[in-house]
Amino acid sequence: MAAEGIVFDIQKFCVHDGPGIRTAVFLKGCMMNCIWCHNPESIRRNPELAFESQKCISCQACAAACKQGVHHFDAAGNHEVNFEKCAACQACIHVCPTRCLKIFGEKMNAHAVIKEVLKDQKYFKSSGGGVTFTGGEPTVQYDFLLEMMKVAKENNLHVCLETNGIIFSEKLSHLMSYTDLFLIDYKATGEIHKILTGVEESFVRQTIDSIHKAGGKMILRCPIVEGLNDSEEHFAQIRKFKSQYSSILNVEIMAYHASGLHKWESLGIDYSLKKMASATPEMKKYWEAKIAE
Ligand code: SF4
Ligand code: SF4
Ligand code: SF4
Repeated sequence: MAAEGIVFDIQKFCVHDGPGIRTAVFLKGCMMNCIWCHNPESIRRNPELAFESQKCISCQACAAACKQGVHHFDAAGNHEVNFEKCAACQACIHVCPTRCLKIFGEKMNAHAVIKEVLKDQKYFKSSGGGVTFTGGEPTVQYDFLLEMMKVAKENNLHVCLETNGIIFSEKLSHLMSYTDLFLIDYKATGEIHKILTGVEESFVRQTIDSIHKAGGKMILRCPIVEGLNDSEEHFAQIRKFKSQYSSILNVEIMAYHASGLHKWESLGIDYSLKKMASATPEMKKYWEAKIAE
């Protein structure tokens, strides 16, 4: 039986996730918890409920449909959601008249995912594109990921793997066989990496080094947030990687944009510490000049 996993999105016609036109497959689960995460719906491994309170009309249909007691209303009709109790059964999603409820994450098998991806094969061929596995951290669902990659390769697809760089070496050696290009995040230099992401930077360095030594190709993707990781030390380390590893084909600065904040709220997560200023176009240009020095 084909391996199954939890997918929270399949996006078509992506042009920023590897070469050409691509379909991006987003897998749930991540061992990091980056302060700036744009995809908080990706962090937990299992399907989860999201609620957009501004669309709610307090009709209480969700409370009547839910057997877990997730939805509560006070005397004034204010809607409170106990996210922890949700079993992701979808019953309330189907009865909500304003579509303010959603489950992120759907169980799919590897063949079904690639069948969906292959629908755009003609665009991949004409543009030099393919499939990009991302997340979350796609390697969290390693068996599922590996099987999807194998099926993708059986169908001659170009495969990109976007990763936060936390990949155990024995898994990496298998993944290398099916990955044409790694899109590897490098988020901060030194001790601040752990503060910003929850994980030591050394693991990421080790992965970059291992991919290089094994003959893989990489694009380094660097999210930059003003005041958090835009240090001279960090830019110097990015320049050093570029000169040290010929396998790094390009470095992309991912300037922070505060567009995803509402997602944290819809998942019932406090985001008060995540209010950071978006980067201006001038800042992005300045940071790009820094890594080109
Ligand atoms: S998805 Fe199911 S368990 Fe979760 S809140 Fe809706 S009805 Fe309740
Ligand atoms: S069913 Fe939808 S609109 Fe009605 S109370 Fe529940 S969340 Fe709000
Ligand atoms: S590695 Fe990516 S998905 Fe995981 S927490 Fe960080 S930004 Fe979010």
